[in-house]
Amino acid sequence: CGIVGYIGRRDVAPLLLEGLQRLEYRGYDSAGVVITGPKATGLKMVKAKGRVRDLEAKVPARFTGTTGIAHTRWATHGAPSDENAHPHLDGSGRVAVVHNGIIDNASDLRTKLTAEGIEFRSETDTEVLTHLIARSDAPTLEEKVRAVLRMVEGTYGIAVLHADFADRIVVARNGSPVVLGIGEKEMFVASDVAALVTHTRQVVTLDDGEMATLKADDFRTYTTEGTRTTASPTTVEWAA
Ligand code: GLU
Repeated sequence: CGIVGYIGRRDVAPLLLEGLQRLEYRGYDSAGVVITGPKATGLKMVKAKGRVRDLEAKVPARFTGTTGIAHTRWATHGAPSDENAHPHLDGSGRVAVVHNGIIDNASDLRTKLTAEGIEFRSETDTEVLTHLIARSDAPTLEEKVRAVLRMVEGTYGIAVLHADFADRIVVARNGSPVVLGIGEKEMFVASDVAALVTHTRQVVTLDDGEMATLKADDFRTYTTEGTRTTASPTTVEWAA
C-alpha cells in the first residue's frame, strides 16, 4: 500500500516511522521497517500486524542506522500477519524488499524456487523478489534488480536494500507510484509526496518502466533496460 525510504546521515528509524504515519490515511493492515548504516554489519528489521504505533512499540532501543526502507501493507496475497508484513528478506537476511502492487506470476516463481530448495517465510507474492535478487549473479544491485524484473509480470512499486550494497537504495515502478525526494546530502523515496514534503519539496516522479538508484549525495534514473533517463526535480506546492 505505502512505501517510504531514506538514505543520508540522520537517524533513520524516526524518519521512516513519521513517513509511515503520513501514509496512514491510505489504509493498511500491517507495517514494517528495515534499516542499516555505515557501521551496521547487516540489516535490522521490525514488522507488526496492526497500526504504525504497534510497530513503533516493537522497535528496540538502539535501532540506529542512516539508511532504510519501510512499508504499510494492504494484503492481497496472504492474510494480515507479522510474517506477511513487509519488508521481506531472503534466507541470508541480506536482501530486503518492500512492494506495492501484485506479482501476477508469483505462484509459478514460488513453485520453481521451492523446487530448488528455497524456504519461504511468508505467503506473499512479494517474497519471490527477495530470493530472486539474492540468487542473481549479476555484479551490481541495479543489474540484479533489473534481471529479476524481467522475470516478473504484474504491478509494482518496489524499494530494495542489500547489505552488500549498503550505500544505495534501488527502486522501480510499474503501475504503482514511486516519488523521489531530493534533499541536501540525503534522499527520500515514497509512494506518495505526503510522506516526504515535510523534508523536501524537490521531487522526481518515476514513470512506469523506470528505476532509480538513491545514494546520500546523488541519484540517477534509468529504464528497466538500463538506459539513463533525464530527471530534473520539480518543486511541489503543498499546503500543510
Ligand atoms: N501484494 C503484496 C502483498 O500482499 C503487496 C500489497 C500492498 O501493496 O501493500 O503483500
